[in-house]
Amino acid sequence: MTPALNLAEMPDAAVASRLGRLRPLLAGSGCDALLVTKLENVRYLTGFSGSSAMLLVTAKGALLTTDGRYQEQSAEQLAAAGVEAEITIGRPEVQLDALERFAADAPRLGLEAASLSWAQQRRLAERLSAELVPTSGLVEQLRLVKDEGELARIEAACDIADAALAHVKERLAEEPTESEFAAELEFEMRRRGAQGPAFETIVAAGPNSAMPHHRPSDRRVVERELVVVDFGATFDGYRSDMTRTFVVGRPDSELVDLLDAVLTSQRAGVRALGPGVPSAAIDEACRSSLTEAGYGAAFLHSTGHGVGLEIHEAPAVAQGAADILAAGSVVTVEPGAYLAGKGGVRIEDSLVITDDGARVLTKSTKDHLL
Ligand code: ZN
Ligand code: ZN
Repeated sequence: MTPALNLAEMPDAAVASRLGRLRPLLAGSGCDALLVTKLENVRYLTGFSGSSAMLLVTAKGALLTTDGRYQEQSAEQLAAAGVEAEITIGRPEVQLDALERFAADAPRLGLEAASLSWAQQRRLAERLSAELVPTSGLVEQLRLVKDEGELARIEAACDIADAALAHVKERLAEEPTESEFAAELEFEMRRRGAQGPAFETIVAAGPNSAMPHHRPSDRRVVERELVVVDFGATFDGYRSDMTRTFVVGRPDSELVDLLDAVLTSQRAGVRALGPGVPSAAIDEACRSSLTEAGYGAAFLHSTGHGVGLEIHEAPAVAQGAADILAAGSVVTVEPGAYLAGKGGVRIEDSLVITDDGARVLTKSTKDHLL
């Protein structure tokens, strides 16, 4: 194990400073307080990692509500993060009463519009006297640029994925099923300190590789066919994302051509990364490279996305995206080309934007031969 994977030796994530950075954004969204219901945002602002919670942020303070399962954990995690917030533990009714009291001097209460169901919004409207205001992306705006502690955790998640792949890669030559290989990869990530996979691992062999989000099945990896492996680890809540495409034995010239075209496209996207660059320009770099190679119509998805507490988060790296890349953002570059019935290739790295370009975090070799 490398020292980078030791959580105790990593820089602290600067959790305690985040509520103070959120408050100035509220007025601009037309609210006096914000009810944070997206769990990744609750975790970002307080350090609390439980599966049920609401966080009310007002001009004067913050209130975390959760249920009895998390009585001890919530107090411990908020204290460890140095976050000053009241905590109310109880049934949903008890939590709503506490929110109503705490929001008494906030006539306009912001909700995270994208993270609430219609039923939840109606319930809040019935129980809370404040005017409810839809907001979008307030906490996500803060999460866009990662601090030192967050970067260390994402980097650890990338290192774990690299090490796990290096350990199991040779197994592909033994013709495992897609499911067997996915399970081995996930086991090796856990053995190296991951809490689990960052998302459902994709192993797609032969014609299945032509489907960008194929689920692992009992299909075997067969010689001279493509196998796409798209996976990541979760470490202390933070995720990694990487895709490699392999061939056991010598592929035919059509597949070699496809592999070369996607690798060239991925490199073009990575070269275009930098602070102040529109994320749409990264998509364009990858897309025009594949189009030149004759595979424009075979690129079926967008080029990438941000990675952090969520596997897909801001900024979008896609056609028509309005995001401008900033130093400290972590994004993927993952062009692919897919030929139905034959096979597909995708190559993906996670990278952090730096002051003068980008630094690759997923370091596994892109050599497709085993
Ligand atoms: Zn991926
Ligand atoms: Zn991805």
